[in-house]
Amino acid sequence: MLIVTKPGISKEAFRALLEEIKRQGYTPHVSEGESHTLIGAVGAPPTPELMEHFRALPGVDQVIRISKPHKLASWEVHPEPTVVDFSTGRTGDGRFMVAAGPCGVESREQILTAARYVKEHGGQMLRGGAFKPRTSPYAFQGLGVEGLKLLAEARAETGLPVVTEVTSPDLVEVVAEYADVLQIGARNAQNFALLKAAGGSGKPVLLKRGMSMTLDEFLMAAEYVLSEGNPNVILVERGIRTFEKSTRFTLDVSAVPVLKSQTHLPVWIDPSHAAGRRDYVTPLALAGTAAGADGIIVETHPNPEQAKSDAAQQLHEEEFAALMEAVRRLLPAVDKALAAQA
Ligand code: PEP
Ligand code: MN
Repeated sequence: MLIVTKPGISKEAFRALLEEIKRQGYTPHVSEGESHTLIGAVGAPPTPELMEHFRALPGVDQVIRISKPHKLASWEVHPEPTVVDFSTGRTGDGRFMVAAGPCGVESREQILTAARYVKEHGGQMLRGGAFKPRTSPYAFQGLGVEGLKLLAEARAETGLPVVTEVTSPDLVEVVAEYADVLQIGARNAQNFALLKAAGGSGKPVLLKRGMSMTLDEFLMAAEYVLSEGNPNVILVERGIRTFEKSTRFTLDVSAVPVLKSQTHLPVWIDPSHAAGRRDYVTPLALAGTAAGADGIIVETHPNPEQAKSDAAQQLHEEEFAALMEAVRRLLPAVDKALAAQA
């Protein structure tokens, strides 16, 4: 339920209200508004008697049932857009962010070269997998902690914040030590133990949509992170499985306006994993941008033909530069500009 406090509520009454929420078995999530404060009291559906009980407490203005199952992700509990802040950047503030880099970190030279040109062409964040979730156990699994160290080196040189995937709960601690943003991939989007562990890490989480997830299920996955007390979640549409075989997945462009209408969280798209082919990446990136996405995450590799994973979809440097130019030209049409670089 949502408890709206009166504008002049005293500190003591507010504290007592939080205590009473907890005593009744609910977890309070406070959202400060300009005139009054909202408290999302999250737990079992409240009885009419319980709602009446809260209505009668000092300093309480309204008690409202939250209709959505994904309560903390909903606009009802958080009427302002969430700005996800990491030390060297932010997304969800109306500016457009581009995270780019290779699918996987393969070598020092590869990741440093990519980081340098991502920065040069205007990207604001570096991506690169150190722990790779691969369909085949025989495929390249990533460099692990060595890859995390190389990402940290690339950040130290370029200033770009780093997003990298965490594939299991026991790796959250080490990935959080090196990364600015933890990525949870499509294959793990309903790994609830992982979502909770990432939620508890205190680091922002970039959550990909599972390839067979409805948008409601996607928002419920985000709810797992939020309910651990971590408000910093970026939602990423990365293509879903359909009957169409000419692309690797089908980019669900409608996810952007639908999610935006349902949640205050920033919404990005990943055109690379949807397309599966580099020649389709830029048109899909532009479609997502035009649909109102807050950012994109795109794969680019200094030598894509030699890439150890996702070789067919990674952009060459010149293609990445052209994509940045096209995004820059499109952004004014959707009242946005590129985010500042660190
Ligand atoms: C990736 O970003 O490299 C990746 C594996 O993405 P997804 O989880 O969307 O397939
Ligand atoms: Mn990839």
